[in-house]
Amino acid sequence: MIQAPKGTRDVYGEEMKMWRHIEDKIRALTDVYGVSEIRIPIFEHTELFLRGVGDTTDIVQKEMYTFEDKGGRSLTLRPEQTAGTARFYVERGMHNQPQPTKLFYIGPNFRYEQPQAGRYRQHYQFGVEFFGASGPALEAEAISLGWELLNSLGAKDIHLHINSIGCPDCRNAYHETLKAFLNEKMDNLCGLCRQRLDRNPLRALDCKNPSCKEIMKSAPSVLDSLDEECRAHFEGLKDILTRLGIPFIEDAKVVRGLDYYTRTVFEFINDGTTVIGGGRYDGLISQFGGAATPGVGFGMGIERLVRLLEAQNITPKITNAPEIFIGNMGADGFVKAQELTYALRKAGVHAESDLLNRSVKAQMKYADKIKAQYTIILGETELQENSANLKNMQTGEQENISLDNLIAKFAKA
Ligand code: ATP
Ligand code: MG
Repeated sequence: MIQAPKGTRDVYGEEMKMWRHIEDKIRALTDVYGVSEIRIPIFEHTELFLRGVGDTTDIVQKEMYTFEDKGGRSLTLRPEQTAGTARFYVERGMHNQPQPTKLFYIGPNFRYEQPQAGRYRQHYQFGVEFFGASGPALEAEAISLGWELLNSLGAKDIHLHINSIGCPDCRNAYHETLKAFLNEKMDNLCGLCRQRLDRNPLRALDCKNPSCKEIMKSAPSVLDSLDEECRAHFEGLKDILTRLGIPFIEDAKVVRGLDYYTRTVFEFINDGTTVIGGGRYDGLISQFGGAATPGVGFGMGIERLVRLLEAQNITPKITNAPEIFIGNMGADGFVKAQELTYALRKAGVHAESDLLNRSVKAQMKYADKIKAQYTIILGETELQENSANLKNMQTGEQENISLDNLIAKFAKA
């Protein structure tokens, strides 16, 4: 038997309904936020991620699915979609459009990770990327969308953590301060943190190793290394969030794993698990050869959100049950049932009929199993009289109805 590859999963049944519910909410919300949907390629030139995501990151160092195609090109299954979206922005000259440009995507990403609960080799993200405004209002626009999405889905116990890692100048200054601090604690750091000390010391701040965690409690705060402008930007964001009534926690330990962030970084966290992670990336577009353009984005792990909603017993009210099952008796009844089912469906009604030439008894059993709300059986008499008994499966009530009126009765207004 061939099984699904390690770290992948099949989504179906009740869980699929939850996905559908989430995607419906996303589309409704992005509509009122004026955000346009994009579909970018699932694979890109490897170079895009080396440059865009950054070669000191876990993603680039360990997690990419990279392969050579038959033409000898090095391609990589996208591990995230911000780089691809930024490439699209530059390639299509989106800066010529009225700004800001607000985009969103829903789709799979691929990372060679150690699979565990909430961590897969293929995972789905909903993400937004907003370009073209340098003030904190752009962050607020993205954050409020994320907040509203989680709220409207009924998710509870989610906390918004915000931080600023400053511009590259502030960051370099902070790197030195942090390195000096970490060098003193070297002996008690985990192997990974010792390795990243030179390349990417910021990552030590959110290391999950207990010993590192303890040490980081007394680490110098990045907020103390911010210059005046970066500080004003951060204060500006806090003001807007306060005015919008969106609660937040200032948290200097939030750093995010990707190299492209500048200034604001944020996460929506439930019980230690990050559901949404994002931030500002003012240097990204110029990395890809575009004119310097500010941007803000976030990625939300759909599997993680589904797990959270399920754990909180939140279930969408979506049903696959047909509104009516058209049963049949005899060859003419079979054909008429197909016709009527087609006509009802064209009128927007979920109707089902028998496709297996079952007995009437077996058809009724089936209608019951698929939880049809109404049933009707078309036999010789019904066809002659052009009317039949419509049965409400819940109450058992029956009424005689003309077949001509059936569509009008069920059709959506
Ligand atoms: P983590 O610290 O959990 O590894 P990350 O920093 O790698 O997260 P991002 O690259 O910012 O995460 O991705 C955004 C969101 O996508 C995460 O907050 C999470 O919800 C989800 N996500 C990331 N990697 C995975 C994965 N391997 N499986 C499932 N969801 C994931
Ligand atoms: Mg990761």
